[in-house]
This record gives sequence, C-alpha cells and structure tokens, in this order.
Amino acid sequence: MPKKHPHYDVIIIGAGPAGYASAIRCAQLGFKTACIDSWRNKKGQSRLGGSHLNTGGIASMTLLESAKIYHQISRDIAEHGIHVDAFSMDIPVMIQRKDKIIDDISSKMADLFEHHKIDHIQAKAQLLNARQVEITALDTRTHSILNGEYIILATGSSPVKLPCARIDHEFIIDSVDALNLDAVPKKLGIIGAGVVGLELANIWNRLGAETILLEAQENFLSLLDQQISLEAYRFYCQQGLDLRLGARVVSAKKVNKKVIVNYQDQDGNHPLRVDKLIVASGRKPNSEKLAAPEADLLLDENGYVHVDENFRTNLPSVYAIGDLTLLGPMLAHKGMEEGVFVAELIAGVHNPINYNNLPSVIYTEPEIAWVGQTEQALRAAGETIKIGIFPLSATVRALAMGKTEGMIKIIAHAGNDKILGVHIIGTQASELIAEAVLAMEFSASSEDLARTIHARPTLSEAVHDAALALKQKALHLPAKPIIVPHGSH
Ligand code: NAD
Repeated sequence: MPKKHPHYDVIIIGAGPAGYASAIRCAQLGFKTACIDSWRNKKGQSRLGGSHLNTGGIASMTLLESAKIYHQISRDIAEHGIHVDAFSMDIPVMIQRKDKIIDDISSKMADLFEHHKIDHIQAKAQLLNARQVEITALDTRTHSILNGEYIILATGSSPVKLPCARIDHEFIIDSVDALNLDAVPKKLGIIGAGVVGLELANIWNRLGAETILLEAQENFLSLLDQQISLEAYRFYCQQGLDLRLGARVVSAKKVNKKVIVNYQDQDGNHPLRVDKLIVASGRKPNSEKLAAPEADLLLDENGYVHVDENFRTNLPSVYAIGDLTLLGPMLAHKGMEEGVFVAELIAGVHNPINYNNLPSVIYTEPEIAWVGQTEQALRAAGETIKIGIFPLSATVRALAMGKTEGMIKIIAHAGNDKILGVHIIGTQASELIAEAVLAMEFSASSEDLARTIHARPTLSEAVHDAALALKQKALHLPAKPIIVPHGSH
C-alpha cells in the first residue's frame, strides 16, 4: 500500500516575519497549518523568527541599545550630574544579552505556535509541485513528503556575496558575523552605506571602533527625502563616522591579520588597512533550491519569485511573500502584512495592502523614519505641495531628554491639504512615524493633524507643530520664516 503523506490545509515554508505571521493568521482562520523552518542558532538549537529576529533587525537593534548606554555613560552622563568613576565594557556579555533576548522572543513565538496548534516542523523544505513539499530532517537527513492544499513560500533573503571581498568569517565578515564579534575592532571598514551598513556602523562606532564606510554611490541614502539624508549625513559625520561616497571597493584580502581594502573613487585607487571588514552590500532572495526543477516555479534572473498582485506564483495554490518577491521593499512589517493578506485571501477575504502607507525606519541614533512620498518625487511628478518643518531643538521633551538633533517634515498637497509624506530624523522617529502612518491611512489633511491635541511634554508635539508649521502657525517657532525649502509654496 502506498505511504499516506500528512496533509495540511496550508504549508508555510519559512518562519521569519512573513511566514510566522501568515501561520498564525491561517490557524486563526481554522486552517490546519504547518510551518517549516531550518533555522538553528549558534548552539544548534532550532529557532523561529528567521534572520530578522536572529541575525537581522531585532538582533541589531538590541545590540544598539547596549551601545547607546555605553556611549551615554562615556560622553553625556556628566551633564546630568552623574559621575561614573570607572566603567568598562564586556562585549561577550553584550552579545549574550542580545542572544538571550532573541531566545526569549523566539520561545514566545513557539508558545504562540503551540497555542494555535501550528505544527512547527524543524526541517529543510523543498517545493516538489503545486501541492507537495519534501522535507529533510535536520539531524537524521531523512526525507518525507507533506501534502498541502495551499503552499506559502516565505524563505526571506540573505546577504549578497561580493566576489571582490570573500567572506572568511574572521577578518572579512558579513552582517551576521558583525553582530557576534567578541571585541571592538580598532579600525573597522564597512562596504555599503545602506541601511545594514549604517546600523552596524552605529553600533561599533559607539563602542569605540574607528569606522569607515565605503559606498559606491555618490548620493547618500538616495531613496530618502534629500533634506533628511543631508541631515543624516551631517549627524553621522559629527558622530565620527568616516563616510566615503562614490567609493567602490574593488578588492579586499587578509594580510597579516589585517584586511587590505582597495577602493576607487573619482581621484583614483586607494588602499585602506582595517582590522575587520564588514560586507553590507545588499540582500538577495533565498530562492536557491527552494523548488525542485520539475516544480517549474518561475523566478526572475535575480532569483526573485514571480508573483501577481495577490502574491500568486505561476503555480496554482502556491504563494510567495516577503523578501522573496519584488513587491515592495525588504521590510519585516511588509512581509508580515503580506503573510496575513495571503492567509485571508485563501479564506476568501480580500484585504488589499496599501504600500503607499508603508513606514520605513533606519535604526541608528538618531533614528530615521518616513512614510509616503519624498519632496523630490512629488516635485518630479509635478504635484503642487506645501511643507511644514519643525526641529526637535524647539520641542520641550527633546530638550529635557538632551536629544535635540533632528526634525519632522510634513508634506501636504497645496490644494486639498492631504498629507502626502512625512519624514522624520531624530530620537524615537520609529515611534513618532506611527501617528503619520495612521493619519495617512485615514487620508488625513495637515489640518486634521494640526487640530489633534497632543500631550505635553512629548516628542509627538513636534509632529503637531510641524503640521501647524504648514500654515505658519507653529506655536514654538517665530511666525516667519519657518525653515521653508526652496520653492515649496
Ligand atoms: P542596500 O542595497 O540598502 O545597501 C547596500 C549598499 O552597498 C548600496 O548602497 C551599494 O551601492 C553598496 N555597494 C555594493 N557593492 C559595493 C562595493 N563594491 N563598494 C562599495 N559599495 C558597494 O542593502 P542593505 O543595507 O544590505 O539592505 C538590504 C535590504 O534589507 C534593504 O532593502 C533594506 O531596506 C533591508 N533592511 C531593512 C532594515 C530596516 O528596515 N531597518 C534593516 C536591514 C535591512
């Protein structure tokens, strides 16, 4: 008699943000759900949460919190009237704290899976066809097959490898290694001043590493509103980051326990000697061997899974979400929304995702957060806009906190006053942006924000004042002129 394979309503491959959120919603909708993931931590223990939790955004943010405390004690604490005579850092303890927090979050996810009766299968999975997945057990390497009515691919992404800087995991390292160093490198090089490079630079620079970022593009953070990226550039340089733009790395190799990096800029070739080199040059989808060749899953030339606007692949009943597709940027919360969307779609409910109101955050200090369109994009599209800007230096809470760097910029349509974009650089920008996202989700006007009462003293007062500034009515700035960029009226 042929062997009967276990059957599920939905099989999800990958338990990162997109996969685990999808699994939970599937289970809530009454589907018999399996979520397969092969992640193992340094100790060889299975972990949910994918790279975002284990080696990405959450891991990085956790370490940054430690770095910020160290930095504050070493620089700013005396002005609070607090004198710390002796202090030191213990990087292994910092890393252990980060690992413990990751473990705790991962086990909370495991509890959620158990509560929702989701089968968490610790194995390597491969799509065989539109309704079957082969799994390979991590220890025994034994193979078996699962049947699924629907299959959701959510295997995420991983760092791109650069042929000119081969990772040896000791001297030339990737962003995963960079969150597990056992000491602060004296001189640290980073290839790429994108989100990952900047977040890592912010950690190790705060802990005392001389940090040099080599970025091939001339434009710094080119996707951001240019006024904000200029501010960011200024703040990072003030903090001591050595940001070299238009600097393309062409080779890197280990010589006598150092890394010799060669980069080219408009002045020619330059050598640079560093103790460690982090390669943070982008991420690519984890689609290699995701599907057996006979499954005929359609990928593009860069390995992204081809999907339609409802995340359907070319195979009926197989979906792909999160970093695997080109729909939207690589963001954890975007993946989570897509996971929920597909689960609900399978249940017959169509709740479209509004990518226009997707917030983005760069977790440095100060943080950068934005939603909607930039001033440059709106002007290029010929929109008539008005802009309100409010600096955190005029916000009482920021003054009390001693975190006055940064600003809130609100862009609204000049005619109907609808908010089109909000761009923030400053402490807790990641929290402040939520109000802007909500306002835009409700199609609010700047007048709506201006008429909303904000508690005092809070940082959110700066959002309020920025909305008031659109009409030259900010309470905590001289009536005129408010910082008005060229041509905004
Ligand atoms: P990125 O593409 O944002 O930045 C990589 C940079 O490396 C680019 O600017 C590129 O010009 C540069 N580069 C590439 N090759 C180079 C070379 N030879 N020499 C010099 N510079 C070179 O990639 P990333 O920072 O790795 O991030 C990957 C993705 O993950 C992005 O989509 C990002 O938004 C996402 N992400 C988001 C967060 C967050 O939301 N906070 C955190 C981490 C990653």
